[in-house]
Amino acid sequence: MEQEKKKKKGLDLQWKILIGIVAGIVLGIAFNQIVGPGVKTGPVYMIKIIFKYGGDVFIRLLRMLIVPLVFASIFMAVVNLGDIRELGKIGGKTVAYYMITTGLAVLMGIILVNIIHPGQGINKEALSALEISTKVPAKVTKQGVGERSAFVIIVDTLVNMIPKNPVGAMAKGDILQLIFFTIFFAIIAAMVGRESETLTKFIHGVDVIMNKAIFIVMEIAPYCIFFLVTAIFMDLGFDALKALGKYALTVLLGLALHAGVSLSLLVLLIGRYNPFKLMKAMAPAIMTAWSTASSAATLPITMDCLEKRAGVDRKIGNFVLPLGATVNMDGTALYESVAVIFIAELLGIHLTIGMQVVIFITATLAAIGAAAIPGAGLVTMGIVLTAAGLPLDGIGLILAIDRILDQFRTAVNVWGDATAGLVVGRLENAITDVEELGDVVPQTVKSA
Ligand code: ASP
Repeated sequence: MEQEKKKKKGLDLQWKILIGIVAGIVLGIAFNQIVGPGVKTGPVYMIKIIFKYGGDVFIRLLRMLIVPLVFASIFMAVVNLGDIRELGKIGGKTVAYYMITTGLAVLMGIILVNIIHPGQGINKEALSALEISTKVPAKVTKQGVGERSAFVIIVDTLVNMIPKNPVGAMAKGDILQLIFFTIFFAIIAAMVGRESETLTKFIHGVDVIMNKAIFIVMEIAPYCIFFLVTAIFMDLGFDALKALGKYALTVLLGLALHAGVSLSLLVLLIGRYNPFKLMKAMAPAIMTAWSTASSAATLPITMDCLEKRAGVDRKIGNFVLPLGATVNMDGTALYESVAVIFIAELLGIHLTIGMQVVIFITATLAAIGAAAIPGAGLVTMGIVLTAAGLPLDGIGLILAIDRILDQFRTAVNVWGDATAGLVVGRLENAITDVEELGDVVPQTVKSA
């Protein structure tokens, strides 16, 4: 691996980020309790705005890197593969892993919700005191998600992978379209051979620059995350959290079991890698996912951690992770199944086994279709509700605590992608043991 380990002075990145998160939670809650959420004027509001924008800067910086990073890294990976059939093998294994683990996640959600029945013991008075909206959020109706069948959604996603205009795809930041175009472009560049050498050198330069850029953004991550988390907790509705506590706990328990047991066992048994070690390696990415609630924004950090801290060869991570960030959402799938059954219970609607099977299938597909941005799972839940014959207004019931649950499900989404990278990496014999975890500086960065 073209990198050099360099012990940095002071704390490791994951500890710095953790301190940023804890400090943000404490300050945010203190603010929330003293001032109350939802302040919209005056000097207090100014302070909130400062924290909010501090967090936004970080998310924008990360998102700014995605398009050039995904393009350059996938291009270089395809060109360096040598044999294009390799790509098919890696792709096949990745898609199989994604389908199986997403299915397992939904199953875990359905089993738990049937054991715990979070909708049954709920304090309806506390719930109505919250004046929870029963209106369908505009973004759900606007996109007409509720009216589209799961089958149409999935075929649509597949066909839509082919961009009408690659520049447009880049401008929109559509990662799936970008992946498709880049693979297509790189395969042809490899076929062309010598004629594309100059271009390949150029794109290699972009790749190196993007790696250095990630390294720099990660340096400021702990401070930005502090701002981001403070802003989130300033606005959190704690009454809603109490009223919907049983539902929230069911989702969190499901996420913990899926991440800590199902996925970790796959890492241990198929990946032959210590899951705790992988978790430590991926900690900066997982915590960034938790703070930003966006797998897409986290992608540059996820790619960096899997390669440099977990030791998985770039040729694997460069494919598995961008694809995973867009289609593999275990946390979202699990959450959607729990939320939909919870809504049915709350509305007093009995779900037959048949309807639960429909929920299993549609939650899996809806998670694949969800964008890797905050709140996307809530939007595609419309598909699951409609398929199960439940009213779309049900979404209003869980809206109040969606942001905080989004943070946890996004962290699991990113963990799921990392485990895929590790498992596929092992199957492809592409893991170098990273003895000592810590921040490593790529050679190219050091010498630049
Ligand atoms: N925020 C999630 C993600 O970016 C998607 C969701 O809303 O569930 O992975």
